[in-house]
Amino acid sequence: MPKAKGGGFDADVIIAGAGMAGATLALALAKAGLEPVLVDPVVFDAQIAPTFDGRASAIAYANFRQWKALGAAPRLEPHVQRIEQILVTDGRLPGASAGAPAPFFLRFDSAEIADRSDGEPLGYMLENRHTRAGLAQAIAAAGIEVLAPARVARAEVGPAKVVVTLADGRALSAPVVVGAEGRGSVIRDQAGIGAIGWDYNQVGVVATVKLARPHDGVAHEYFLPSGPFAILPLTEDRASLVWTESAGAGAALKTARPEVFHAHLHRRFGDFLGAATREGPVFTYPLSLQLAERLIAPRVALLGDAAHGVHPIAGQGLNLGLKGAAALAETLVEAARLGEDIGSEVVLERYAAWRRFDTAALSAGMDLFVRLFSNDHPLLRLGRGLGMAAVNHIGPARRFFMQEAGGAVGDLPKLLRGEGL
Ligand SMILES: Cc1cc2nc3c(=O)[nH]c(=O)nc-3n(C[C@H](O)[C@H](O)[C@H](O)COP(=O)(O)OP(=O)(O)OC[C@H]3O[C@@H](n4cnc5c(N)ncnc54)[C@H](O)[C@@H]3O)c2cc1C
Repeated sequence: MPKAKGGGFDADVIIAGAGMAGATLALALAKAGLEPVLVDPVVFDAQIAPTFDGRASAIAYANFRQWKALGAAPRLEPHVQRIEQILVTDGRLPGASAGAPAPFFLRFDSAEIADRSDGEPLGYMLENRHTRAGLAQAIAAAGIEVLAPARVARAEVGPAKVVVTLADGRALSAPVVVGAEGRGSVIRDQAGIGAIGWDYNQVGVVATVKLARPHDGVAHEYFLPSGPFAILPLTEDRASLVWTESAGAGAALKTARPEVFHAHLHRRFGDFLGAATREGPVFTYPLSLQLAERLIAPRVALLGDAAHGVHPIAGQGLNLGLKGAAALAETLVEAARLGEDIGSEVVLERYAAWRRFDTAALSAGMDLFVRLFSNDHPLLRLGRGLGMAAVNHIGPARRFFMQEAGGAVGDLPKLLRGEGL
């Protein structure tokens, strides 16, 4: 492959941010023969400490195919919990999970789309620390250059290259820089790309618990008047709990003694959980919607939360970022093979055109979802109940939602089809 790096650059692609989206992009580019460099203020060892990030993510099966195609999956598989069923319940009482169904609920079962998904589950639950560790090992094995701790501070775009200056004064040049540094993206600001959005005035509370009974790979999503509450299955019959609280209540829960924490869980969620014992600390994340006004600028592309920070209600934030990584990698690799300037507008516009609709539609959909489901108005409750019941009873609609959640609809990048670049 003709390498941009041959033209006196420090790298083919500078990736600001070695989070899960940036790291996946780096692997995809390197596997196809390009030379990326990753820059991150946090060294990988710190990112995988149990106290760094208490989150676990539901990874759509199409995105897991990407990690398989990139050779990272064997490092992740020992930590993966298959999601075989998703039960969605609206209301004050537990429905499908309790054996006594509430009037309205949705039930997704992987067996129903087994013919289309090749026996894959609806998704995979993975603790972020294991994902980060697996990706870090794959990056080291691929010999990808990682500058950490190092922080991107400035980016200056010239006619033929972009020069990225780090906070310690070092400068790097490449035909293109990718801003994958999360919501506070420096590259987005440097490129003059605005961001729109709003705060939900809530925090997402995340805790891991050991369950008293087997979860059988079932994920529960309860839409309670106080907001959504998810119980997501992890290995060893543990579960990741995610729910929303006001900022004040979230802060109090973080420091609460275990018995106070459990009493709160019980008061709020009744017996849904059975006897669950908390493992590890409680984490809180402020919830907001933040969308970049554009995905690209001259010699700049945005990826992951730097481009779109959505509400975690349906576990789609990282999935969007991983889909974006596959599309960006395919665009840059094909352009390099054709001898094009990989930072040129015409090339980057292909990436933006590919991802623009999906990103905007999903972000808007999530926002509507949050507003609709965090509301206890009786008419809204009836409306969403009828909607859920309708989807539940119409087989094709249900199968469509399952494939959508699996990330397997639309114009799929090759890596999401499990093919190499
Ligand atoms: C409570 C909660 C639960 C969630 N659950 C799910 C789920 O189930 N499924 C799902 O798909 N998504 C989920 N998400 C969303 C998901 O966590 C994010 O979308 C995802 O982590 C974003 O990844 P990223 O790589 O784009 O950004 P980040 O993970 O934010 O990584 C950004 C990286 O950039 C680095 N960085 C920062 N500044 C600089 C700089 N100046 N220079 C260089 N590097 C820099 C940071 O150190 C970091 O490593 C959840 C989110 C929350 C809050």
